[in-house]
Amino acid sequence: MTRIYRGHDPVGPFLVRDWLKRNGIRAELRGTQLIGLGGGIPVPKSFPTIWVPEAQRTEAERLLSLFNGPSLVHPEWVCRKCGENNAPTFGSCWSCQAEP
Ligand SMILES: [Zn+2]
Repeated sequence: MTRIYRGHDPVGPFLVRDWLKRNGIRAELRGTQLIGLGGGIPVPKSFPTIWVPEAQRTEAERLLSLFNGPSLVHPEWVCRKCGENNAPTFGSCWSCQAEP
């Protein structure tokens, strides 16, 4: 596994992880246990990081560059079966009905 992303806020890494997973990357979130410990207002010492298998690093970095683009919060997802782009609200591919 190799680290490809370090969060800058507590929520971003979760969105990035979901975005990668929806595109077929076996992304793993680490460091989430640091959030919210001790009660009160959670002040994490560090934000979560995202790790991916070495073999998927290139693809993950490409996806990451897309994620940092215009549609940050609700990125489109790409169908793994036919490669069509789908709006984030689509539960299955508009073209071939495959699950994301
Ligand atoms: Zn499709």
